[in-house]
Amino acid sequence: MKKQILALSLVCTLAGCGGKAPVYESVDDYPVRRGALDEMVYSPEKTTFSLWSPAADSVRLRLYAEGLGGEALEEAAMRRGKDGTWTCCVRGDLQGKFYTFQVNDMEETPGIFAKAVGVNGRRGAVVDLRCTDPEGWAEDVRPALAGAKDAIVYEMHYRDYSIHPTSGVAHKGKFLALKEPNTTAESGSATGIDHLKELGITHVQILPSYDYGSIDETRLEDNKYNWGYDPVNYNVPEGGYSTDPYEPTCRIREMKEMIQALHKAGIRVVMDVVYNHTFDVAHSNFHNTCPGYFYRYNADGSLGNASGCGNETASERPMMRKFIVESCRYWLTEYHIDGFRFDLMGIHDIETMREVRAMMDEIDPSLLLYGEGWAAGTPLLPQEELAMKANILHIEGVGAFCDDMRDALRGPFSDDHKGAFLAGEKGHEESIKFGIAGCIEHPDVDMSRVNYSKAAWAAEPTQCISYVSCHDDMMLTDRLKASISLKKGELERLDKLAQTAVLTSQGIPFLWNGEEILRDKKGVHNSYCSPDSINAIDWSLKAQHEDVFRYYQGLIALRKAHPAFRMGDAELVRKHLHFLDAPEGVVAYALDGEAVGDEWKTIVVVLNANREDVAVNLPAGAYRLACGDGECPYSDMRVDEKITHVGAQSALILYSMD
Ligand code: CA
Repeated sequence: MKKQILALSLVCTLAGCGGKAPVYESVDDYPVRRGALDEMVYSPEKTTFSLWSPAADSVRLRLYAEGLGGEALEEAAMRRGKDGTWTCCVRGDLQGKFYTFQVNDMEETPGIFAKAVGVNGRRGAVVDLRCTDPEGWAEDVRPALAGAKDAIVYEMHYRDYSIHPTSGVAHKGKFLALKEPNTTAESGSATGIDHLKELGITHVQILPSYDYGSIDETRLEDNKYNWGYDPVNYNVPEGGYSTDPYEPTCRIREMKEMIQALHKAGIRVVMDVVYNHTFDVAHSNFHNTCPGYFYRYNADGSLGNASGCGNETASERPMMRKFIVESCRYWLTEYHIDGFRFDLMGIHDIETMREVRAMMDEIDPSLLLYGEGWAAGTPLLPQEELAMKANILHIEGVGAFCDDMRDALRGPFSDDHKGAFLAGEKGHEESIKFGIAGCIEHPDVDMSRVNYSKAAWAAEPTQCISYVSCHDDMMLTDRLKASISLKKGELERLDKLAQTAVLTSQGIPFLWNGEEILRDKKGVHNSYCSPDSINAIDWSLKAQHEDVFRYYQGLIALRKAHPAFRMGDAELVRKHLHFLDAPEGVVAYALDGEAVGDEWKTIVVVLNANREDVAVNLPAGAYRLACGDGECPYSDMRVDEKITHVGAQSALILYSMD
């Protein structure tokens, strides 16, 4: 192998100026790389390597036989181009070889845009991406979706979802776990991809799937768990989720196979992306490619830390912005990903998010884009320039998570033992109304009584992600147990009530895997590296809580069948959603179905968190019950009275046909 590659003549055939780096007064003066950011372009005849590093005095390319360990087979000096990009062309067929770049005397790096890597992502891999396409990949199409208003998102983690012995899945904790057909738990309940189909969601949002640093891919037998919010190579799938992290094409093919299977099942795939920080800085590809450029620094030279992870990236710098846009474009085109959830989006600047949206619109306007409209610390950029929740109003086509309704339902992030609406506390009704309307300006919502936001932050309801729980924080079950002295049956009732608010709201509803079968995490709030005993979903719960599962399924089917729950337009919501007078601890509203093409003329939703029944005045009409007393769908019965009674801690959905 070594002789074979030494026999290749390493030649620089591309124009370059070479020599000492120009003197730049600041990184802001660095030129931006022109064109695509590909750092390795393969053909059987030659491979061209390139790396953007304007201030470097030298960049060397090294070729290796292995992804980790061993001496370089060959090395060559690269030549500088005018835009700060260094290039080198190697003749011969390099497929299967690995490479690194070395800028000055810094650590070797696979660069910032490696598309394939060896184990643990230390070296880039020369791969013909067309060899990674599963059979039928060219025919893979995104499942139909008229627009963001029709999305119902299910957040999940490969390992949570499949690692438990009851999952019935063979490829536990792997990409392929979501490809296996006909998987069932011992009890006979469908699991794996069939469970997703049965539930009826339209999108999965998978926790970080790119290469991250906290799992040692050479020691997968240690069976470690991590959420993966510690990015290393942004444009390569994580090796720990593949069946062979040493073989660079394996993780790429298997992730594509998973996406292909989900698409065939009618499910779109949203990727969780964490461009706001890296695993560390000293060993990061950004730092070792172009030191001082990709992160924000304080005046004293120390790193900004709005991520709470020791660093924050600088999206406002042209090359970092271009990196984010091009990285997203790559996942959409090469992997057929259908949307992004930006972690700590509030660290990024508004302009970057606008450019990501514009790029996505060119590909398909129905692709989803949303994120966390906050940061974990104070970013080193003025608030008005950041993609924070309060600025979402001005970032068309970009959504944010609604913590207003989340916390009004279950209680604040800061104190797991504090309850709110679900605990029967009064005074949270207005925040829930705000969330139900999709966080837009609405004549019936008194913003002075909303918990966090004092002004509407969404211009359109599809910019609001409605949820009561996600991977962060306690599961809803744990939270209810921690914040309320629960009596028999109350856990189920309150869980259903909470998700009725979510699934009938005008924002995009969002669920966390296992909620639908009342999974818990044994009260652990931050389970990012907890063992499987905390994070794994026990699928025997599905048979045990079939009633809860059917309720979630019923609500999802109801939402999909009735456009009134997803008007998708702020003007329509302001006109055709009206909140009704209701007692304390109750939120009630009516939807004018007829006006938005729904076969139901009027729909009334009542959410009662009180421990006793309440009476609510209905608008005139003869109603039938679609959902009540923890049953959805409800056996079709007439409710003739103008005043109707809503059971304790439950939701009522009624409709009139005429
Ligand atoms: Ca990794």
